[in-house]
Amino acid sequence: MFIVGLTGGIGSGKSTIAGFFRELGVPVYDSDAEAKALMVTSEALRESIIQLFGEEAYKEQNLNENWLSQQVFGNEEALEKLNNLVHPAVRTHFLQWAESQDYPYVIQETALIFENQAQANYHSTLLVYAPEESRIQRVMKRSGWPREKIASRIAVQLSDEQKKELADQLLENIDLEVSRARVVQLHKNYLQEATASR
Ligand code: ATP
Repeated sequence: MFIVGLTGGIGSGKSTIAGFFRELGVPVYDSDAEAKALMVTSEALRESIIQLFGEEAYKEQNLNENWLSQQVFGNEEALEKLNNLVHPAVRTHFLQWAESQDYPYVIQETALIFENQAQANYHSTLLVYAPEESRIQRVMKRSGWPREKIASRIAVQLSDEQKKELADQLLENIDLEVSRARVVQLHKNYLQEATASR
């Protein structure tokens, strides 16, 4: 299975672009959503998380997401420990999912590829990027978060300039119709690449 990794910083428009690929019929795996689901449905993962963070990590049957993100934001050691539990579980789940898709290629949408040096997991990587001010405005509008909170999230991610050096393909997401046209073009390329790699 030909695997494309779709990534981009907060507010870049990853999910929007993933949606354009979905509209074309491409199977897209939303790593963030699947990770959150696995943290609830996988008994083994839930137990490891409780061992690490305590019972407060869950509220009744649900993940206590706000509490957990407070524990790990700015605490690199805790974040790394959590990632070391969640990432392998998501990877295994993703590969099973990918193999069950009846399509020439699949997309894994994930916030961090280059930060985790995970490029080798993909046949091709696609970076979605946009000017920082647009990203801040989009997230402020969507979530109501204060500017400082968004800027601090952006500051801990690799810069777009660094990621552009590492990505196989780029998509500048400013005008949505231009982005949609770029998705159609990329989709044709991926279909060709996937067929050629069989
Ligand atoms: P996050 O990492 O925060 O989840 P994301 O990279 O997945 O964000 P989206 O959720 O796709 O980004 O987009 C963030 C917000 O910006 C959404 O409300 C979306 O509708 C809006 N948006 C995305 N692309 C554009 C665009 N080109 N012009 C205007 N608004 C946009």
